[in-house]
Amino acid sequence: MSDFDLVIIGGGPAGLTAGLYAARANMNAVLLEAKDVGGEILNTDLIEDWPGEESITGRALADRMAGHARKFGLRVETYAPVEKVRTEGDRKIITMADGTVHTALAVIVSVGGEPIKLGVPGEVEYHGRGVSYCAVCDGAFFKGADLAVVGGGDSAFQEGLFLTRFAKKLYVVHRRGEFRAQAILQDRLLGMDQVEMITPAQVREIGGNGDVKWIDVVREGKLERVPVEGVFIFIGFKPVGRQLFEDHIDHDPSGYLVTDQYMQTNIPGVYAVGDTRQQLAKQITTAVGDATTAVLHAERYIEELKHAERAFPKAERAAVAEATRALRTLRVRAGQTVIRQGERGEDFFIVMRGTLEIVHTDVAGADKMVRTVGEGDSFGEIALLGDGTRTAAVRAVTDSEILVMGRDAFSRIVSSSPAAREEIEARAAERIAELRGGGVR
Ligand code: NAP
Repeated sequence: MSDFDLVIIGGGPAGLTAGLYAARANMNAVLLEAKDVGGEILNTDLIEDWPGEESITGRALADRMAGHARKFGLRVETYAPVEKVRTEGDRKIITMADGTVHTALAVIVSVGGEPIKLGVPGEVEYHGRGVSYCAVCDGAFFKGADLAVVGGGDSAFQEGLFLTRFAKKLYVVHRRGEFRAQAILQDRLLGMDQVEMITPAQVREIGGNGDVKWIDVVREGKLERVPVEGVFIFIGFKPVGRQLFEDHIDHDPSGYLVTDQYMQTNIPGVYAVGDTRQQLAKQITTAVGDATTAVLHAERYIEELKHAERAFPKAERAAVAEATRALRTLRVRAGQTVIRQGERGEDFFIVMRGTLEIVHTDVAGADKMVRTVGEGDSFGEIALLGDGTRTAAVRAVTDSEILVMGRDAFSRIVSSSPAAREEIEARAAERIAELRGGGVR
């Protein structure tokens, strides 16, 4: 079993980008990929919408992205399919298909999806014998053949363009009269001599004699048999991220994982990026943007979780992970007051960076510096456990960064286990005694 801070599942453009940032930040991270790195772009011949590259093959872009991430020291495991992910306390337990188990504080899911099937007779039987979902993989087997591409989106048109290198005749079979593919792709493909549209038409059956020889389509109510040796099906894409999870993970009706603007799913520490996430555009550019946001947030989440766990060593780990999501960050300048004695308090504080002093004013009005607090220390619990009144002031000695936890999250952590409550009450009692006794530490 290996323990990581971050596990990235899926090595397409999104996963490789997350990996690049994780490696550059020196995170204890691994990227797990079921096949070879590259993901969906390995199935794409030419990519012409990656800024800075007018035209690059999918394979070349995948190699460059993987090489770039590895150069910064990313650990990549290929042909390492993940079977299941579940939550145990603050950790994600990642079980591999071979039974190996990894754990991580955060997981980035960048597994994309798989092609949707037409669901017609012959599709399953002839898969690999003329039925394909990847022109780049299989197109070259059909030199000089008549082929059909099914679908009207970007994939159908892009893959169709690739197939024109080999096809004598290429039929574009689409269920509607209009296509949703980008105009530039439509102009290019439909302007070619060997391309013929069959629209609006539904494929009813794929048949042959061991290998594909024809497709039956229904156009305007009439059944037509179209002789082809290959059928390339691009009718959309089914996200697969959701299938990895044993716990409930929020998804839309089509199975895309739902996230907030930081790519966080409903499970603390689990992020979804790229094509498996609910979003407007499934593009390489948006996938890498998702991944950048996710990994920067995950880095922050992991650091905050570790601080929160040190502040509540006996609390339920799951409660601490949940509370970590609700933390806010407060940055204060040297000399600035964070809390005032006598005011009402609704927050608990954990110091991430810097030094602050706790100052108590006695009944005679004399200030006494009780002690200083630094990285990893916390304060503010006395008011939250008691009547809500601050018993001392806290002032920043140096510029400081503090995590702020609201009353609700604090209460949930305190009540997560009897040991957690005992521990935090004992700490508060110690501090009250300290205030009464004064003294500097
Ligand atoms: P898509 O955009 O969802 O298009 C699927 C096509 O298949 C649609 O034309 C749809 O018809 C048709 N279809 C769906 N179900 C069907 C069925 N049961 N029978 C017959 N036809 C059916 O899928 P995609 O082309 O795979 O693209 C997926 C995403 O990746 C899109 O967001 C796309 O923009 C993106 N992508 C981008 C590029 C690029 O060059 N930038 C390249 C590839 C993919 P209707 O139109 O009638 O719904």
